[in-house]
Amino acid sequence: MTHIEIPDGSPFGMDNLPYGVFSTPGTDPRVGVRVADHVVDLAATLGDPCFSAPSLNAFMAEGDWAGTRERVKALVSGDIPDDAVHAVGAVALHLPIEVADYVDFYASEHHASNLGRLFRPGSEPLMPNWKHLPVGYHGRAGTVVVSGTDIVRPSGQRKTPDGITFGPSQRLDIEAEVGFIVGKGSPLGDPVAVDDFADHVFGVVLLNDWSARDVQAWEYVPLGPFLGKSFATSISPWVVPVQALEAARVATPPQDPEPLPYLREKSPWGLDIDLAVTWNGQEVSRPPYREMYWSPAQMMAHMTVNGASLRTGDLFASGTVSGPEKHQRGAFIELTWGGKEPIEVDGRSSTFLEDGDEVTITATAPGPAGARLGFGEVTGRIISAR
Ligand code: MN
Repeated sequence: MTHIEIPDGSPFGMDNLPYGVFSTPGTDPRVGVRVADHVVDLAATLGDPCFSAPSLNAFMAEGDWAGTRERVKALVSGDIPDDAVHAVGAVALHLPIEVADYVDFYASEHHASNLGRLFRPGSEPLMPNWKHLPVGYHGRAGTVVVSGTDIVRPSGQRKTPDGITFGPSQRLDIEAEVGFIVGKGSPLGDPVAVDDFADHVFGVVLLNDWSARDVQAWEYVPLGPFLGKSFATSISPWVVPVQALEAARVATPPQDPEPLPYLREKSPWGLDIDLAVTWNGQEVSRPPYREMYWSPAQMMAHMTVNGASLRTGDLFASGTVSGPEKHQRGAFIELTWGGKEPIEVDGRSSTFLEDGDEVTITATAPGPAGARLGFGEVTGRIISAR
């Protein structure tokens, strides 16, 4: 038997316990939980068939989330059969969910204002609807990939001084975001109330919404992002349960004008998640999630207010997390101001991504009693266009 010793200060202690899907050489993907630098095999230890599945969907749809969390805490504090404990470095981590629908919001006032200035110079940075509803678009669920998956540089149409051309994106960018995973669905036709967030949303991941800015700038009017974003979206392999984030709740920034009643929460809350973006190993930004204008529950309520149903495996993301300071911007188009103010990365003057570049987003949030909870990382490397 193995007893897992959790080092002081571990971001994966008993207060976190994120779920993921892993495999060891020659075995099928199954559900595990991260404890310190170990993965505990839940298929082998808890006995429920849902943990033998290659995604969290069955557990999220059918499981008793709170009860399972208590069982997991009891399991990992005791002695565990040796063959159910693996070093995290010795397993392969897979996409943790089968993604149903994917929606991306635009919930940072700082990011939306910066992009308004860059894409529509000379007009109001925020569109008239922005403070009345959480703006979003439907993305492509089938191209959500797990951290570590290489990203092929997309090709597309661009508007250049020489006319409309086709070729590999020359303004390939990132968006550092937080993603929310729906565990339990809702009936078609029924809006989901803003205060029912915890009944539906299971957990939180880090997300990189890779964005081809040249493709996006030419195609986005009037229906919004399309091929400039649909080629790939990366998420972190560990799903941090919403239940683990109680101590990370903070008030959202003041909302003026007051939102319509369906967007009013009893006690509006955001999350005090500190993100960090590294580009080829060098930290270039520290986006603060607590600055986000629209809350996760408001995004969920808005997404369903027309009667659209939620499904197990739905993923909705926050939009780029950017704070008010330059070093808090979560996209390179903002950090380099449209490519006009290059930053020094790795001894190179950089604006957008080059082939071979690697970007990693990590994050921590407050846990109980001063602890920090980790989200792991979402990383991806750019490979050349095909
Ligand atoms: Mn985005």
